[in-house]
Amino acid sequence: METKILKLDSQALGCAAIGEAAEVIRSGGLAAFPTETVYGLGADACNPNASKKIYEAKGRPSDNPLIVHISSFEDLIRIAKAVPHTARLLADAFWPGPLTMIVKKNRAVPDETTGGLDTVAVRMPNHPAALALIRESGCLIAAPSANTSGRPSPTLAEHVAEDLNGKIPVILDGGEVGIGIESTIVDLTEEIPLILRPGYITQAMIKEVIGDVRVDPGLTAEDSEIPPKAPGMKYRHYAPQAGLMIVDGSKDAVIQKINALTDQMHAAKKKVGIIGTDETAFAYHGDVVLSVGAREEEDAIARHLYRILREFDSVSVDIIYSESFQTPKMGQAIMNRLLKAAGHQVLMVQ
Ligand code: AMP
Ligand code: MG
Repeated sequence: METKILKLDSQALGCAAIGEAAEVIRSGGLAAFPTETVYGLGADACNPNASKKIYEAKGRPSDNPLIVHISSFEDLIRIAKAVPHTARLLADAFWPGPLTMIVKKNRAVPDETTGGLDTVAVRMPNHPAALALIRESGCLIAAPSANTSGRPSPTLAEHVAEDLNGKIPVILDGGEVGIGIESTIVDLTEEIPLILRPGYITQAMIKEVIGDVRVDPGLTAEDSEIPPKAPGMKYRHYAPQAGLMIVDGSKDAVIQKINALTDQMHAAKKKVGIIGTDETAFAYHGDVVLSVGAREEEDAIARHLYRILREFDSVSVDIIYSESFQTPKMGQAIMNRLLKAAGHQVLMVQ
């Protein structure tokens, strides 16, 4: 299959391109499109055969449910068995935006879209092209991240092409995304709402709107202790091909430790990759040193992280050492992704 990459013009939003992708979705096919979080791989959420194609193209395990993207609150009412009061409050505060809510589903949503669960994950994306695509297709759009399962989520259309070229008919290219990590997921079917995946919208922000909210204990547990509630969070996502280890501690101690580890690896004739920041990158002597941005700019760190992890797959290094990024707001979300990429390998230094 030939994959067409259609550029979106930021002014007119490339209406013809959106029309073409909308037609593909309407007729049961797949189209990749930008959202404010990462690129999504979309299909008609109410068409079981279309949903199945997403799993095939990504190589995604069939028990890992999809997020349904909507363009109005009424769409949520159409597919939910009941709409909790908290959903209305959160939608008023954060939609369109990077918050996914889990509610009980009705029969409009096939089992193929929800991995057989009786609940459905729903989000209204804050991106003009995504909203236009949903409206023009006349469908609700099931869309996971548009990467091959197990690779970092795509933050550029080029990343989508790297993984899915030849497997899908169309990619809408809207340039680099704004946030760079996936949406926060909050489960509203629990008595006390539960955060299943951290993201740009933090626990504190949700608390301010609906009061009590907890974080899934399965998220912070070491592999296999307590399973996370979101089926997708149990897989080793975001893994670069080389092994990755996080070194955490004070700035100088981290630099010293990473350089010492680099020397050991060099003595063993191994090539070393390093993930640092603008403030520290110059201090390392690894073979490939990449900066995620300035330490004070956590938005930039989130936006660059997946691109950097992908870049390490295209250079040959044997091991990657990364600094830790416990930033004030998005630190939990950034470290959740980085820890998974590292298979929870962390070295603490004083
Ligand atoms: P992605 O679409 O790649 O961002 O992944 C979607 C995430 O949402 C995965 O971790 C899924 O397991 C999770 N998810 C989707 N629907 C549900 C649901 N009904 N209940 C729990 N988790 C869900
Ligand atoms: Mg994903």
